[in-house]
Amino acid sequence: MSHPQVENVVIIGTGCAGLTAAVYAARASLGPLVIEGPLPGGQLTTTSEVENFPGFPEGVDGFHLMDSLRKQAARFGTRFEQAHVESVDFASQPRKLVCNDRTILAKTVIIATGASPRMTGIPGEREHYGGKGVTTCATCDGAFYRNMEVAVIGGGDSAAEEALFLTRFASKVHFVHRRDTLRASKIMADRAVSNPKIQMVWNSVPVEVAGGNGGSVTGLKVRNVKTGAESVLPVKGVFVAIGHVPNSAPFAPALDVDANGYFVPEPGSQVKTKVPGVYVAGDCADHVYRQAVTAAGMGCQAAIEAERWLAEHGG
Ligand code: NAP
Repeated sequence: MSHPQVENVVIIGTGCAGLTAAVYAARASLGPLVIEGPLPGGQLTTTSEVENFPGFPEGVDGFHLMDSLRKQAARFGTRFEQAHVESVDFASQPRKLVCNDRTILAKTVIIATGASPRMTGIPGEREHYGGKGVTTCATCDGAFYRNMEVAVIGGGDSAAEEALFLTRFASKVHFVHRRDTLRASKIMADRAVSNPKIQMVWNSVPVEVAGGNGGSVTGLKVRNVKTGAESVLPVKGVFVAIGHVPNSAPFAPALDVDANGYFVPEPGSQVKTKVPGVYVAGDCADHVYRQAVTAAGMGCQAAIEAERWLAEHGG
């Protein structure tokens, strides 16, 4: 009977964190296996122009950036396989990743599964998502809405932060919240509410993203939950900021996660977990920065840690 192959490094996820980890692990001659999930290339593939990734003075198309990163990883010997990791067994060595159709064995594992933005699900949202007026990232897309009216949906720190950031560009920011007080921390809430460019739309839920013939957004229909009155905000951009869902569920029993499901790394490290040789990187372990470049940095750290672990324990 043949023994199943034991991989040196298995990287789960193909966003910025996973693919950067792959470049580093592959260049270290570890022959990494990357498990590709339901959104190859990660969140950047859902945005159009990326203007804040270092090294691209003219900006770079998000899909093109991820495609290039994938080719860079493949060039040094990264292998890619499609699979969905359903559960893990980290109690024994090699570590076991139980997928829908097979079990993968690995000496080290880098989990870079990202976080999915929570969406409202209202009509028009999906149709305009990704470069057509609906977005989940003001840092990425705010600059495209210079001198235009925009709406932010949410009520937490993310929404307050997005609304404040957008005041640099937009002529007016409609801040749509379903209750009459923000969930955001007091300092952020005070800043948002007192900003002259931000118009609070209290007690209101979004109902529909309206679009014109050209496919772009022309307005956001909202309903006041107290009066039932509906109105249309004349916005060109809709920023959905109602939280993220980290893709940590299959690993959560084995690794520590916080109340929102984000991985909690070991003290003194951004990427080490309580399981030796198992690392986390990118948005699944970071609800603060959530940038392509910070995810890439964590992927790099995780790969270097995996390399060191293998050198010490036999690669
Ligand atoms: P959050 O705190 O969970 O807030 C989500 C907001 O969206 C809530 O106000 C919620 O309304 C609203 N919401 C949820 N589902 C909705 C729906 N279907 N329709 C309309 N509104 C909906 O999420 P977050 O703002 O992304 O923050 C996540 C965590 O990261 C928090 O712990 C936050 O403090 C932290 N964070 C910190 C910073 C910072 O320190 N600078 C920045 C960003 C995030 P209700 O209030 O009515 O529930």
